[in-house]
Amino acid sequence: MLGLMQNWPLLCHRIIDHAAAIHGQQEVVTRSVEGPIHRTTYAAIRGNALKVGQQLDRHGIKIGDRVATIAWNTWRHLEAWYGIMGIGAVCHTVNPRLFPDQIVWIVNHAQDRIMMTDLTFVPLLEKIADKMPSVERYIVFTDRAHMPQTTLKNAIAYEDWIAEADGDFRWKEFDENTAAAMCYTSGTTGDPKGVLYSHRSNVLHAMMANNPDALGTRAKDTMLPVVPLFHANSWGIAFSAPSMGTKLVMPGPKLDGASVYELLSTEKVTYSAGVPTVWLMLLQYMATEKKTLPDLKVVVCGGSAMPRSMIKAFMDMGVEPRHAWGMTEMSPLGTVGALKPPFANLTGEAALDVLQTQGYPPFGVQMKITDDAGKPQPWDAKTFGRLKVSGPSISKAYYRLDANILDEDGFFDTGDVATMDPYGYMRITDRSKDVIKSGGEWISSIDLENLAVGHPKVLEAAVIGVQHPKWDERPLLIVQLKPDQQATREDILQYMDGKIAKWWMPDDVQFVDSIPHTATGKILKIALREQFKDYRFPTAAA
Ligand code: ADP
Repeated sequence: MLGLMQNWPLLCHRIIDHAAAIHGQQEVVTRSVEGPIHRTTYAAIRGNALKVGQQLDRHGIKIGDRVATIAWNTWRHLEAWYGIMGIGAVCHTVNPRLFPDQIVWIVNHAQDRIMMTDLTFVPLLEKIADKMPSVERYIVFTDRAHMPQTTLKNAIAYEDWIAEADGDFRWKEFDENTAAAMCYTSGTTGDPKGVLYSHRSNVLHAMMANNPDALGTRAKDTMLPVVPLFHANSWGIAFSAPSMGTKLVMPGPKLDGASVYELLSTEKVTYSAGVPTVWLMLLQYMATEKKTLPDLKVVVCGGSAMPRSMIKAFMDMGVEPRHAWGMTEMSPLGTVGALKPPFANLTGEAALDVLQTQGYPPFGVQMKITDDAGKPQPWDAKTFGRLKVSGPSISKAYYRLDANILDEDGFFDTGDVATMDPYGYMRITDRSKDVIKSGGEWISSIDLENLAVGHPKVLEAAVIGVQHPKWDERPLLIVQLKPDQQATREDILQYMDGKIAKWWMPDDVQFVDSIPHTATGKILKIALREQFKDYRFPTAAA
């Protein structure tokens, strides 16, 4: 027997409809690419999103066609986001930090028909546009006064383009399983892979993200997503915040410590989300300038492991740090770190121990850890295993790639290695390709990095496995010191000694001027491996 409830398809544009109807006057504030702070409301965003939909429809964009954006977090990007999805087209967010060749590859693979972009990226696109023949028209997120002369095909200023529409338009009707958005993984190994979100998966993910122990903002909160709309579905914030009526503060192109601080402070932001490098810049700025943020309540940090020293720095400021783990393929939330019973009342180091894990999965994400043969491993907080996940907002395949990515139980292998504890807290110990295999045992590069950055003079640390004649691989610690700081190999090793098992201690420390990062802010270990490919441990040579 079937239930007798309405069939109300879970469609992304219903979120902006709701925001406009119930929280219509709630603000969306942007540091615009042109410079000034811009203010609008959810009602106005919906109005313009309808105009975007109307214009795309007139252009002949059909259900399933791809419309790309290469753009910062701004109100215009949000209008385009909902306008594209609302007619059943696919909003393909492209990461501008990728190499130009990767952008070309991705746009050609996706066959994007229209490209919307910011002033910042016009010069970049002009250089590669002739290699992207599928793009019929470029729309620049600006007004006529700021529109540059450009060679981009059929280029028009966004404000002029939407002014051609009257907004007397209705969203298209389609099934909730229709594709809504697309995001390519950054492809540090092999070609990028296209992750294709559906309307249903995005709406369910927004509800999951709104769980108070996850992102959980309220209508009275203000959220500043430092995480860009082009990084892993903006961690779902472009859906979760409007669905709650939360005020949004969009940082535009300026993500340095001073600029992020200024917005957090002047807009009285209560929630923010971003990768550790962003928080590193903010905390450094605040320490040097002796600044405070009395309104900030929660900082969500993910994309790479959040160092213990950073978790502590936020706690000392009275801010709740929520360590999140996820991936593009998971829409992206997988786990969030919050203190639940029996840990809820912990303080100090004991609280840090729990918050340093990547947290536990919300309802909607199922997890297991297995050995290489697929055998489930115990949740004892000690045993490492391959982390596999299943849920309604998790990929079952990649776009135009004919390969099965699920195991026999329908779980997706994340490529991460993790432990689980009896309470469901997950701790990432490594990417499976980064784990250091020493004498048949595994050493977690992330644990060593987290420990090393606790040293007061260390800005960032990376650990890679280097070949060793006896042990197969041993850890090499690569350190970037804070500006104007000096430290020796011995200083760093002495600091680490006694805090980890003896056999986990790095065999050597090398200092570098800067640690390279990927387009999504992760340490680029491939480049470090290349840089240190001829390196041999002094002890190994002896
Ligand atoms: P991309 O691969 O495009 O940079 P993703 O965000 O999809 O973007 O990367 C997902 C991977 O990032 C995860 O599989 C994991 O290895 C790593 N990651 C994400 N969050 C964390 C975290 N909190 N701690 C450690 N690693 C993390």
